Amino acid sequence: MPDTLFDKIIRREIPADIVYEDDDVLGFRDINPQAPVHVLFVPKTPVATLNDLTEADALLVGKVVLAATRWAKTQGFAENGYRVVMNCNRDGGQTVFHIHLHLLAGRAMHWPPG
Ligand code: AMP
Repeated sequence: MPDTLFDKIIRREIPADIVYEDDDVLGFRDINPQAPVHVLFVPKTPVATLNDLTEADALLVGKVVLAATRWAKTQGFAENGYRVVMNCNRDGGQTVFHIHLHLLAGRAMHWPPG
């Protein structure tokens, strides 16, 4: 799959405000935050869209979710709550084709999201 912006951030070729890292996942602040806390959690192994996931990726996706929830618990807002979003393709609003989880927190979220 073609290189994306997120591959360049993972390789430290372009700067990002990195808040979390482990062997499989990187977390960094979104450049255009939609909430007081807006962090993107990305697998270091790229997959373009949610549609491209297979059974073989189940552990990787679980690690992305756990990285986000583990980090949330260190930040003091987990009890109040937060939202996670994964956009897929055009109608889902996906703009970077390397799957990522948006973690949004620090304000009350509305539903439906619109
Ligand atoms: P999505 O629209 O779900 O594909 O999300 C892509 C996200 O990447 C958007 O929320 C953008 O604001 C964010 N983004 C784009 N460029 C950067 C960057 N250089 N550093 C951090 N976040 C970025």
